[in-house]
Amino acid sequence: MSTQEQVRPTDGERPGRQAVVNPATGETVAWVDALGPDDVAVAAARARAAQPAWEALGFDGRARVMRRAQRWVVDHRDELVRTIVSETGKAWEDAMIAEVTYGAAAFGHWASAAPKLLADERVKVASPLLVGKKVVVRHAPVGVVGVIAPWNYPFTNGFGDAIPALMAGNAVLLKPAAKTPLTSLLMLRALRECGLPDDVLQVVTGSGSRLGDPIVDAVDMVMFTGSTEVGRGIARRCADRLIPCSLELGGKDALIVLADADLERAASTALFYAMFNGGQTCISVERAYVEASVYDAFVAKVAERAATLRTNDPTGPGATDVGALTVPEQLDVVRDHVDDARGKGARIVVGGDEDEGRPGWWYPPTVIADADHGMRCMTEETFGPTLPIMRVADADEAVRLANDSPYGLMASVFTKDVARGEEIARRIQAGTVHVNDALVGYAALEAPMGGWKDSGLGARHGREGIVKYTATQTVVVARLALRREPQHYPYDGLVHKLLGGLVRAVYGRGGRG
Ligand code: NAD
Repeated sequence: MSTQEQVRPTDGERPGRQAVVNPATGETVAWVDALGPDDVAVAAARARAAQPAWEALGFDGRARVMRRAQRWVVDHRDELVRTIVSETGKAWEDAMIAEVTYGAAAFGHWASAAPKLLADERVKVASPLLVGKKVVVRHAPVGVVGVIAPWNYPFTNGFGDAIPALMAGNAVLLKPAAKTPLTSLLMLRALRECGLPDDVLQVVTGSGSRLGDPIVDAVDMVMFTGSTEVGRGIARRCADRLIPCSLELGGKDALIVLADADLERAASTALFYAMFNGGQTCISVERAYVEASVYDAFVAKVAERAATLRTNDPTGPGATDVGALTVPEQLDVVRDHVDDARGKGARIVVGGDEDEGRPGWWYPPTVIADADHGMRCMTEETFGPTLPIMRVADADEAVRLANDSPYGLMASVFTKDVARGEEIARRIQAGTVHVNDALVGYAALEAPMGGWKDSGLGARHGREGIVKYTATQTVVVARLALRREPQHYPYDGLVHKLLGGLVRAVYGRGGRG
């Protein structure tokens, strides 16, 4: 079965096919193949056969394809947004900000950064055993990379990771989330139009529980984005095979507002990045801690803004502020967290009431005041349009509570004293911390983004974001090769004397490494 060009909308259900549903309306928009383990094996074999020629194209040849793809994204941005929105139910602007902009940037960034980040590196070495020898570190592609992606950003997460893996010279098997395969299939077609050779990138559509193990078993490295629970299972399986994996997992990002903060900016930022993408972002603002003296004013400002947010169907630009929840399971989690907080004494100052008769999966933007760590909304990932807010005595209590979490993805501190903000940022256990901002650190493709603690292993972006798709090789070249090195046999006493002298000369004064 071909893993390419699969989108064939039909009316009836068929074995081996899976429906793609628009979460905003509940309507089926397409059917795609639900592939099985045998299809993965075939795809992996094709990928392995295609990879050497792709690697041989070199950085320039691969970059040409990526730059054409960048232009394709710019020229087809509305088609791309429409496809993303049709399978996620998000607002058009959410797709434009976090997916089209990201994708366009990513193609260009990795096209120009890869040759520099993966260039051969001549290393200076100190050992007397290597005198006169050349030592070069190179980065070879691992071969076939398995990219397993979640449903919240079908382009940025998953497809975005395929770009550096490809630029490093690998073939890629990309498994989008079962609910959101259309964007990856569209982008596969786009890349092929842009000159990507057959089978270098293949999109395997289907259920994660069916395809996950076969993918891990068939590839040389796994890049996984998704829940911590599934990530752990993947790490275990990779350990069995002794292959590397990079994991971008869940989060519970904290935002701290100190008494001297610009409250307008803090409230606007907190609300925006709590509700953006329906709150379904691993790096959403998931909880806020506000110093007591400005707590009431902050809650009032957030509530005033939240009450104006529209939740219409995302039919086009400007149609809505907040979109739908992409998967129905998420609706249960959000409802449970809000109900739990309500039952434990929190105040629901905006939202919290669902429109029962509405088709699709919707939850209103909800602001929860007087939250505390006895409530699930403050300690478990909600992944929905909620902003729970907790009063704290001071910065120390805020930092302690921010760190009282198994997660460590991103965080924010708001204060007009930027130096103090930076000092507090360094005390927070998270991969990225903002001062007077949130979430935008993700757009820094030049800097690593990754989770601490249960939020992940490894990083995307920066040097780490591409070197991880390679196997490092050190090449040692004896250029002026003597017929026999002084330390070679026989051990006639001279070797001992010679090395003793060398050790004394080189290390005797505590000088060289
Ligand atoms: P998920 O873990 O359920 O699924 C992620 C992917 O794994 C999907 O493609 C799914 O089909 C596949 N999968 C499911 N079971 C599998 C198995 N047993 N073996 C292999 N693959 C399997 O996550 P989700 O619900 O799609 O996404 C939401 C989660 O992703 C949230 O926790 C969110 O925080 C996280 N996320 C993290 C980042 C990040 O960069 N850290 C980015 C986006 C989302």
